[in-house]
Amino acid sequence: ETQGNDILVSFRGVQKSYDGENLIVKDLNLDIRKGEFLTLLGPSGSGKTTSLMMLAGFETPTAGEILLGGRAINKLPPHKRDIGMVFQNYALFPHMTVAENLAFPLSVRGMLKADIAERVKRALNMVQLEALAGRYPAQMSGGQQQRVALARALVFEPQLVLMDEPLGALDKQLREHMQMEIKHLHQRLGVTVVYVTHDQGEALTMSDRVAVFHQGEIQQIASPRDLYEQPCNAFVANFIGENN
Ligand code: ATP
Repeated sequence: ETQGNDILVSFRGVQKSYDGENLIVKDLNLDIRKGEFLTLLGPSGSGKTTSLMMLAGFETPTAGEILLGGRAINKLPPHKRDIGMVFQNYALFPHMTVAENLAFPLSVRGMLKADIAERVKRALNMVQLEALAGRYPAQMSGGQQQRVALARALVFEPQLVLMDEPLGALDKQLREHMQMEIKHLHQRLGVTVVYVTHDQGEALTMSDRVAVFHQGEIQQIASPRDLYEQPCNAFVANFIGENN
């Protein structure tokens, strides 16, 4: 398989059906560039999360192939994909401190104690949470907990980070603050981010490019500015125009 050097992920003719009948994702073709912040935007049920889950390895495509760094990964289990993940339900372990929450996945993989301590320190530094390393999740605000979840995704120092509505549980003000934090983090680390949201404003402010999903298909993939100024069809125009 050939794949340009600047491309990290390719979806090639990817389809997904859960019931063998209805295609939730239809013939998805998408190249994700190294270092870019790409958002999958679309209404509920349009296939964004399913696409992300296939990239993460928690769902298998019904047809087509996903390439990561030029390598076909359809049969590769999630933990071998070098991908970090952040979800809305960030599910920190309540009986573990922040540092222990970050160390746990590393120790499960058999990393040496000294290396774990170093990695945890670096990850906490990335989200400016070193001062709270000894706290338990219940002793922190929603925004702080979300930053711990971010740090946990970064603790493996992956080349690719997937985020599925990571700010959905936060109130508006905190959400806007965290949008900026994530954006700055992306710029600082140079990591590739694939972000899922149904929030147009969030997609337009954070992304290098936005892929607009509707009924299992990408309608348009473009920079926020081009989407706004040159929507390719009525669906994109209406959807981008909502709440703006
Ligand atoms: P949302 O923002 O609501 O999560 P989405 O665009 O991410 O929407 P998906 O979560 O990919 O969309 O869901 C697309 C469709 O696939 C929905 O109709 C959903 O009910 C269905 N679906 C998702 N996961 C499964 C599953 N594990 N088994 C069966 N159907 C599923």
